[in-house]
Amino acid sequence: MLRLAVELLSMSSSVSETQDRESFERLSERRAINCPVCGGPCTDLPLYRYTVEQAAAHFCPPTRDTHRNRRLQHCIAGLWQGNDCEIFACARCGFGFGHPFVGGDEEFYSILHEQRAYPAWRWDYDVAITEAVRKFEGGKILDVGAGSGVFLRRLETNWQVFAVEGSELTRVELEHDGIQVLRGLGVALKSHANQFRVITLFQVLEHIADFEEMLRQCHALLEPGGHLVVTVPDGDAMIRQERVTGCHDMPPNHINKWTPESLSLVMRRVGFECATPIYEPPSWKNVKANLHMRMIAEAAKGDTVAAQIYRIRNRRFRFAALSFLGVPTMLRMFRYGRQLRLGGAFAIVGVVPAQHRDKARNK
Ligand SMILES: [Zn+2]
Repeated sequence: MLRLAVELLSMSSSVSETQDRESFERLSERRAINCPVCGGPCTDLPLYRYTVEQAAAHFCPPTRDTHRNRRLQHCIAGLWQGNDCEIFACARCGFGFGHPFVGGDEEFYSILHEQRAYPAWRWDYDVAITEAVRKFEGGKILDVGAGSGVFLRRLETNWQVFAVEGSELTRVELEHDGIQVLRGLGVALKSHANQFRVITLFQVLEHIADFEEMLRQCHALLEPGGHLVVTVPDGDAMIRQERVTGCHDMPPNHINKWTPESLSLVMRRVGFECATPIYEPPSWKNVKANLHMRMIAEAAKGDTVAAQIYRIRNRRFRFAALSFLGVPTMLRMFRYGRQLRLGGAFAIVGVVPAQHRDKARNK
């Protein structure tokens, strides 16, 4: 499916013929690019190529905050060690990935988080509760990339809650509220190997270049029979979103476009037994999200009404103007009908086989 979308896109995409030729020349110049999941060679042309300027405008249009936009440009150029990043899709396992294959660092996220939205309950929290939490009486649970801890705070008191969180500020808040915060998975392994009953990775793996090591560490932290809940944006849905909204899923925030095939391939490789993928259900919330992304795409272009609206400093006025603009935008997007309600993510639950761990112990 991802491959079909890729072919359709490469036929109709905004990448001009000149750019295609350039990409082709670049491909023949450099050494082969291999898929980070299955190792297969990627000889096809890239799906997209983004410049530093395009990426920075996506995360913060210069009309919204010129200074922040410049800081982002500087930071992204440092990460890419150059002026652009290309997105490839593996013909063998469907995995899509950025090249250079590097995710955002602490500096990048600290700039992004200055404009962070309010956290809310999400569909994948319900998946974790039904598919993992409720299968046990209680025990130790770890949420990796816990943010403000919305998920952990909602659990019953029979669960001992732990978090891994990158932001220092959020770490302090979590600890203040009685959530035990671990500095990282490597640190956690020194004191908590084989101890967790459930680990959750809600929309984390799309940001991480060293995803295999992260999954391996989760496996080692879980007890035999322990459950790992992984949720990620769906690679196919990312491509659909780009077509419908014009808003690209921009690196270095998301550098992985996962498909159920590629994700279960890596999870099995590190020792998990994988259940069937669960897809995010269609909802009206997704229509609103699509609308929002369309306006972000408009604002990133620089000379549009949306870009002018982002100049408005007062949050309430800006919101009112955006809502007003939402009406004609919605009418233009109407032709996509049902696609607007579709979910954009999926979950896979992995279980550490009891036998597997016993065997490892007996060695
Ligand atoms: Zn692959």
